[in-house]
Amino acid sequence: MEKVISGIRPTGNLHLGNYFGAVKSFIEMQNNYECMFFIADWHSLTTHPTPENIRRSVRTILAEYLACGIDPDKAPIYIQSDVKPVLELYLFLNMNAYLGELERVTSFKEKARTQPDNVNAGLLTYPTLMAADVLAHKADKVPVGKDQEQNMEMMRLFARRFNRIYNVDFFKEPASFHFYDKAVKVPGLDGSGKMGKSEGNAIYLCDDEATIKKKVMRAVTDSGPTKLNQEKPEPIQNLFTLLSLVSSQDTYDYFNDQYNQMTIRYGDLKKQLAQDINAFCAPIRERITAYQNDEEQLARIAKQGAEKATESAEKTLRQVREIIGFRPY
Ligand code: AMP
Repeated sequence: MEKVISGIRPTGNLHLGNYFGAVKSFIEMQNNYECMFFIADWHSLTTHPTPENIRRSVRTILAEYLACGIDPDKAPIYIQSDVKPVLELYLFLNMNAYLGELERVTSFKEKARTQPDNVNAGLLTYPTLMAADVLAHKADKVPVGKDQEQNMEMMRLFARRFNRIYNVDFFKEPASFHFYDKAVKVPGLDGSGKMGKSEGNAIYLCDDEATIKKKVMRAVTDSGPTKLNQEKPEPIQNLFTLLSLVSSQDTYDYFNDQYNQMTIRYGDLKKQLAQDINAFCAPIRERITAYQNDEEQLARIAKQGAEKATESAEKTLRQVREIIGFRPY
């Protein structure tokens, strides 16, 4: 079975955009591939989080991914910093990664521009750490968005370069992978653009019923259709897109017909949408709380993941050390 590995940025609570854009595919992937998921806490150090911040966000992400349906018995989920052999590979790869090529990476240039007083070496070598995370397990595929495509190219370059330097056929080149043919874009409720943490327009999986309702009822709309069967302007289309994700086909068709007939009442649509979002989130929310309150279980799952991932990475590293020339006397 092909190996798929995916890193998760520990950047706070999951929202509907994360769920339908990424997490849902992970849940399906674990049934079709040999999957591993890790929470990229080393990577997060580039922005200098506080210790408390790291602990809390890693724990939150772990609880939320499990609540969404990652099954640690099918797909190990581990914390990046628990798997030390990856650090060694990071060091080895850095020896053959060149300043010029690292500086040319778009995401590095972007960060250097937006945070000029914190252009640290971790930021520069982000692609080598990402390569180490994946190559340490000799994964076949990595599910990535467009923004990670260049990092994937660097990863393949490092793999090829290692093979060439040592004249081996050791690392395979991991492929970028899109589980769904068409990427899902979950819109926000503010009329345009996508749902996102930094946009401040997100509905979180852990939001309670009242919060969901408040957010949905505030969604931007217009004064209603003025022609039969007219095309929906973006704010309205966004509500229908959300409806298509969380509501039944019947509900969707009902409001769609009402829109086409110009009899729609946005208040009713929003009430239904809020109700359906809540129905979707409620079981996940309950499981999030259950995991958050069960520190022991989280620790056990993280340990189990770390053991599997360390075993896999250590196996690769034993061979890498041998290839490079680090042999025990
Ligand atoms: P972020 O929370 O921005 O770090 O996003 C993590 C991942 O969630 C991204 O790589 C996307 O795959 C997915 N994602 C985030 N927001 C959306 C959205 N509004 N629509 C679809 N996918 C999203």
